[in-house]
Parts: sequence; C-alpha cells; structure tokens
Amino acid sequence: QQPLLKAVDLKKHYQVEQGFRKPDATVKALDGVSFTLDAGKTLAIVGESGCGKSTLGRLLTMIETPTHGEIDFQGQDLLKMDKDTFKVLRQKIQIVFQNPYGSLNPRKKVGQILEEPLEINTKLSKAQRKEKSMAIMAKVGLKTEHYDRYPHMFSGGQRQRIAIARGLMLDPNVVVADEPVSALDVSVQAQVLNLMMDLQDELNLSYVFISHDLSVVEHIANDVIVMYLGRVVEHTTKEELFANPRHPYTQALLSSTPQLNPAHRRERIKLVGELPSPLDPPKGCAFHARCQFANERCNVEQPKLAEYGKSLIACHAVEEQRI
Ligand code: SF4
Ligand code: MG
Repeated sequence: QQPLLKAVDLKKHYQVEQGFRKPDATVKALDGVSFTLDAGKTLAIVGESGCGKSTLGRLLTMIETPTHGEIDFQGQDLLKMDKDTFKVLRQKIQIVFQNPYGSLNPRKKVGQILEEPLEINTKLSKAQRKEKSMAIMAKVGLKTEHYDRYPHMFSGGQRQRIAIARGLMLDPNVVVADEPVSALDVSVQAQVLNLMMDLQDELNLSYVFISHDLSVVEHIANDVIVMYLGRVVEHTTKEELFANPRHPYTQALLSSTPQLNPAHRRERIKLVGELPSPLDPPKGCAFHARCQFANERCNVEQPKLAEYGKSLIACHAVEEQRI
C-alpha cells in the first residue's frame, strides 16, 4: 500500500548576493529531506529556528517550489501533474500557521475568513458555504453564534481554533501545522493539541507537525524527524526518540526538555555555541563545532543518513560505534 504523502530528497537552495566584492553564496535552506506519511498519522519535524523546518512546510503546501526532489500525494507527483489535477490535489494539503494573531485578517469576520477558501476553490452557494463554516466551527469547539465576530474578540486559543477551522474548510487529508501552539499558554496548548488529536481521529487526518518543542511533540507524534541546518540528523519513531536518542544533537535537545517520564530523564547536555550561519556552513558535519563527540573525520566529511534498527541517523560516532 502506498503512503498518503511521500517526500523524496527535497531541496531548497537559493543564491544570496553578499554585496561588494563578495561572491554570491548558495544557501541550502533544505538539503535533501525524504519521508513517508500514512493516513491518520503524525510526523513531527523538530529543530531550532533556522533548521529548515518551516521551509519544508512551505514546500509541502506548494507555497514555495523545491529546487530538487519529489512530493507524491496518493502516488502522484505534485510537481509534475497537469494544472487542473494540481489545483484539486493541492487543496488536500493545508497549512496552519504559528501565529493566530498575524495569520487572521483583523478586518474580516470569522465567517468570511472561513468561507474565503470555499469562494476561491469551490462552486458552493453562499448558503452552502455558511452551512459548511458553521459545521466546522462547531467541530473545532467555536460557538456558531460567533460567526459574525472579528478575530480580536477571541482569545489566543480560540483564534488558533479559527486558524485550524480555516485549514479544514476544503476537507484536506494532510495538515501541515507550523508551530501551532507555540504562541499559546501551556494550559491552552494542551486544549489545542487535544482538539487536533480528536480531529485527527474523526477525520483521519495526517499531520506534519513542525515544532521546536519536544514536550509538545511527545504528545502528538508517531514519527519524528530531527533537523539541523537543512538536513535530517535523526528520523525515528517517537518511542525510540524518547527512549533511545542516538544523534548527539537529538540528545542535547532532549536533555534540555523537561521529561515527565523519569526513565527518560537524562543528564543535561549543554549546547555550546550558536547555530552556524547557513551563508557559511561548516565543512564536514554541520554540528561538529558544538559536538562533544566530534573527531577529525567530523571536521571534513559530511555524515550520511544510515539505518540503525528503527532509526535513520547521520553521525560518524554512531557509525563508528563510539556512542
Ligand atoms: Fe558529532 Fe561527528 Fe556525529 Fe557530527 S558526525 S554529530 S560532529 S560525532
Ligand atoms: Mg519557523
């Protein structure tokens, strides 16, 4: 059985002018990401800001075009299909953004915000559009009496429900959620995550869940991809990631995340130094300047993803069985 969504070696490279007498630089915002996602499942994409996770989200939802690679939806390559098929299929992958304050038009009422995608993409009548938006409002826990309210009249959590509702208006199969709860208080985060999980069960949705926060990911993910400077460093199941993180960067991220499960608590590994500039990425392993396991090879040779049990890991120390 083919996966619902499949990404093959996705890359987004672009040229940046560096100014007087400096050569243009190639920024590799995303440099070869592959995965499969089945119906009803959640793949989390984790990493610090600047690691390429939001770029990946924009590629998957066709807001940006990859410079290389393939995105298959139900076995069809989205980048190669004819315009009409593309128009229909791209609706099946929707995005929900991080910031419910910035992403909702303050001058439009909730009803208008929700019905906009229907106006653009369907032939539904005004009455049918209203009926559909009321039904979705109810599904995400918004009061249908609030149909004529403006976004500023809602709390942060309610606004994120509106953003989720808008993402559901075209009956997608996949929702890419880019930091959907990061702007919310912790107590509200749990409500929105629970809503997302209920919607997933009810509608058999697949999520690509982009987050810098592993404690959020622990709630919701089936599989996890950890990214560093545009590349995948570890790709595994959620259970394996929390019980047996292998890549030094994954270990560092996890050790700075509060762990509820005492068996998973570990000594804190401090991440030293900054994320390197994508304009001038280090040779070898991009993580080497911050890695306590780095050796000579790490300074010159970029590690490739390889299979270890249930995990894909890109690390020389793992390959050399030093860790
Ligand atoms: Fe550290 Fe080397 Fe592994 Fe990179 S390849 S994470 S520098 S041990
Ligand atoms: Mg981002």
